[in-house]
Amino acid sequence: MALRSALVAWRARILSVARPRVAGMTTIADSPTRPAGPVSAGEPLPVAVVGSLSPSRAADFKNCPLLYRFRSIDRLPETPTRDAARGTVVHAVLQRLYDLPAAERTVTAAQAAVTPAWDRLLEQEPELAELFDPAADPEELVAWLDSARQLVANYFRLEDPTRLEPAAREEFVEVVLDGLRLRGYIDRLDVSPAGDLRVVDYKTGAVPREAYEAKALFQMKFYALVLWRTRGVVPRQLRLIYLADAETLSYVADAEELARFEKTLQAIWRAIAQASLTGDFRPNPSRLCDWCSHHALCPAKGGTPPPFPADALRTASNPGAPGRCSVEPAV
Ligand code: SF4
Repeated sequence: MALRSALVAWRARILSVARPRVAGMTTIADSPTRPAGPVSAGEPLPVAVVGSLSPSRAADFKNCPLLYRFRSIDRLPETPTRDAARGTVVHAVLQRLYDLPAAERTVTAAQAAVTPAWDRLLEQEPELAELFDPAADPEELVAWLDSARQLVANYFRLEDPTRLEPAAREEFVEVVLDGLRLRGYIDRLDVSPAGDLRVVDYKTGAVPREAYEAKALFQMKFYALVLWRTRGVVPRQLRLIYLADAETLSYVADAEELARFEKTLQAIWRAIAQASLTGDFRPNPSRLCDWCSHHALCPAKGGTPPPFPADALRTASNPGAPGRCSVEPAV
């Protein structure tokens, strides 16, 4: 399929960047406890708290507040899926590809790295072996590994890795802005000789329909905001690489848009903090329920949530390492 490069009207104002703002951190450890009750818009939060958001957790709350609660507060285990495991394997292969000398970054070398990447993943997460039952169907794993190799091959239709030298891969980025800690991992960061930044994210799923492009862009805006606030430069390009369709979507960042996006994230955190004080995390059924592990606990599916934890706000403020997964058909 032909490469599609969609340029979204994020008007570039690369030069008009603000100074990075990194606020001092406070924690809720020594803060007074507030009686449960709603916090109105504009009212200061009743505790000194550093909020914490990753793109995936912020997206969880936007998609379904109850799902956010299950993942970030209750921290319930989730059923592993073949799609998610394949996404992890393919990401690992593409990350390691750039360990090789440029001339050795061939499609053959990359495809040969798929099975070792799966073996390493199994060592780290032995429970993933349950995804396949060789006794019942010995061909399933073979076909699944082949599908991962096809995704890797598709990558070579979009970029020539012998001509790229990423500045960073699987890069952890973090900043605290007005009491909100933003953190996440960027798949790849390219820096041009002129100093322009390009943020690259690999997706093993298909290109979203136009109506869902904003959701894909949410994650990239998040990374662009963190880079802008930490480096003082708006990334020149945000590139999503969809390996299933062998297509890319590219966006141009705009400082004004990122400033508005920062306010959006603050509003999301505020809503999370309020819900954490009241326990009011509502289900929001959608097609994404098809990929949710928690139907048995979801009122929208006839289930009952577990008792709400007393220290929910503290838990939400300390979510641990940012996760990669989200309720999506593929990652
Ligand atoms: S099943 Fe749907 S509505 Fe319920 S928690 Fe999961 S995503 Fe939310």
